[in-house]
Amino acid sequence: MQDTFLRNIRYLRISVTDRCNLRCKYCLPEDVEFFDNSEILTYDEIYKISYVMSNMGVDTIRMTGGEPLLRADCVDLISDIKKLPNIQKVRITTNGIYLTKYIDRLSKIGIDGLNISLDTLDAKLFHEMTGADRFNKVWDGIMAALERNIKVKINVVLIKGMNEHEIIPLTRLAEKYPIDVRFIELMPIDVCSSLKLEGVQYDYIMDIISSVYHDISLDSTEKGLGPAKYFKSSTMKGSIGFIDPMSHGFCDNCNRLRLTSEGFLKLCLYHNDGTNLRDLLRSGISDDSLQLAILEALRQKPLQHFFNDCAGFKTMSKIGG
Ligand code: SAM
Repeated sequence: MQDTFLRNIRYLRISVTDRCNLRCKYCLPEDVEFFDNSEILTYDEIYKISYVMSNMGVDTIRMTGGEPLLRADCVDLISDIKKLPNIQKVRITTNGIYLTKYIDRLSKIGIDGLNISLDTLDAKLFHEMTGADRFNKVWDGIMAALERNIKVKINVVLIKGMNEHEIIPLTRLAEKYPIDVRFIELMPIDVCSSLKLEGVQYDYIMDIISSVYHDISLDSTEKGLGPAKYFKSSTMKGSIGFIDPMSHGFCDNCNRLRLTSEGFLKLCLYHNDGTNLRDLLRSGISDDSLQLAILEALRQKPLQHFFNDCAGFKTMSKIGG
């Protein structure tokens, strides 16, 4: 399936819940209100949308949230979606807290990769940044995934005055383990503006890393369908990735759509355009008509985000970060 700018759309990110068991300062506002359960897509609704979109050319799906592993049916859902004929990869973005609980089942169904969010290696700072004293739980989850040879990427968001001093310790994870460590630039969602949180940008992070890893160079190995660009030093088992929407554009090759937990098909993380698939499903729409509604929405997919002009938008957990 192609959008009007001839970009090939093959990647769907599904937020399976807006709820989270962490309260990362830059992600969830303290006064966040969650959707009522009746508003959240059911298992069958998520499966149906995945089925229809896989027939339209989506071959890669990521489960996110909120915290996807808070949903008790998440692993079964992934297992069923993985069996759809056109689906090649299903991965999860998780905070890792429930990984030790589900890792054997995830390994058994052949999960294609885990992106685990970890902004600090300091247990005390982890508690401060997330509101939960769960660093060890996340770490055990990462180790459990590695022991089962599941591909792990660590997502790091650096905030000035908070965890920016951990660039090198976090980078060293890629030296010690076969892990890709990805630095994601802070995007200006509402809570970041109100707390005056300032992110750390690509150039600064790269300067620090290359002052220690002198031979760091572009790693062009295929790593997935996302916008990250990767670098590697000869001493590293994994790579260092950058997702830098603030300092560099990455919309030219955008291949993705997002399904929010309440069933809104969102065409871009930044823009609000899209269509409510849940209401269509609940009105008893046929698969063919659902496909037409998706194609109709796709015509509105914008060329690019405008994060740099952005005063703020609603929380990441509602959209599916
Ligand atoms: N609960 C899961 C997790 O922690 O990975 C999935 C949802 S979380 C919203 C997905 C990713 O979005 C995390 O890596 C998080 O760091 C990132 N994120 C949240 N708010 C962000 C922001 N304002 N700018 C950049 N990344 C953000």
